Amino acid sequence: MKVLVAAPLHEKAIEVLKNAGFEVLYEEYPDEGRLIELAEDVDAIVVRSKPKVTRKVIEAAPNLKVIGRAGVGLDNIDLEAAKEREIRVVNSPAASSRSVAELVLAMMFNVARKVSFADRKMREGVWAKKQCMGIELDGKTLGIVGFGRIGYQIAKIAKALGMKVLLYDPYPNEERAKEVEGNFVDLETLLEESDVVTLHVPLVEQTYHLINEERLKLMKNTAILINAARGAVVDTNALVKALREGWIAGAGLDVYEEEPLPKDHPLTKLDNVVLTPHIGASTVEAQMRAGVQVAEQIVEVLKG
Ligand code: NAD
Repeated sequence: MKVLVAAPLHEKAIEVLKNAGFEVLYEEYPDEGRLIELAEDVDAIVVRSKPKVTRKVIEAAPNLKVIGRAGVGLDNIDLEAAKEREIRVVNSPAASSRSVAELVLAMMFNVARKVSFADRKMREGVWAKKQCMGIELDGKTLGIVGFGRIGYQIAKIAKALGMKVLLYDPYPNEERAKEVEGNFVDLETLLEESDVVTLHVPLVEQTYHLINEERLKLMKNTAILINAARGAVVDTNALVKALREGWIAGAGLDVYEEEPLPKDHPLTKLDNVVLTPHIGASTVEAQMRAGVQVAEQIVEVLKG
């Protein structure tokens, strides 16, 4: 059997495929025309967020039985076309949960202690000690919006930090909440009572601009907002206003309504926000896990 790996994949994942006796063909990010050529006689295709596995690619691959996406989203795969041919689509949604949680933690500490701001000032030759008064996280309240895989990982760490955990999720998992000593409340209460609010919901119609002007105004003016979910969960214009006018104290953002974030975006002019370029899943461990989990599922499907 032949597996086409069409995006960089961890060597351990390639090993899993080879150990199962498959022939592995590797070509990084082929365009649609080339992918159609390559797909002609393969049993499986592995991609990441690129390349696109379009209907044309699927139709050009008579032996194709499984498409693997090393990572979370499936937007680059024509799921309808795959379903029509009964081609399985597998991914690894849990592979990066811990990595995202640790980035969120890094952002919480960074904003609370103004680490990025202090570093910028040091490089300008400014000893900004007076402007760098921070807060401790111990004893503070963390509000987690969306208590799924990532939210749960963060709650576990927050508990160890001595934080009180508030949770909001329309589908509450009470057992897990008990484990982290978290309490489910409504969104408004969570926003009003939390010192740090972190977002971990999927981007769907109900969560588009979930955090808008009205909800930002409910937050404490000392609070920190972290968004490592999807950019459009927050109304960016409202957030810029909130950060500029001090409705909240600071923010940490890994995701944006427009990615890459435009160079002169108003967010880049604010000192009380820490910005990272969508690196939640960018760790050696997450990439390895994502690859291996997908490779293992491909082996399962192809070996029946
Ligand atoms: P998950 O599906 O495990 O958890 C999402 C949770 O949100 C679920 O418990 C669900 O019930 C809840 N939810 C759904 N609608 C909601 C609503 N309207 N209000 C509140 N909660 C709601 O997902 P996850 O793996 O924890 O991922 C969470 C988010 O993180 C996703 O948006 C994902 O795209 C994003 N993500 C970002 C990165 C990154 O690099 N920054 C990496 C991985 C995932």
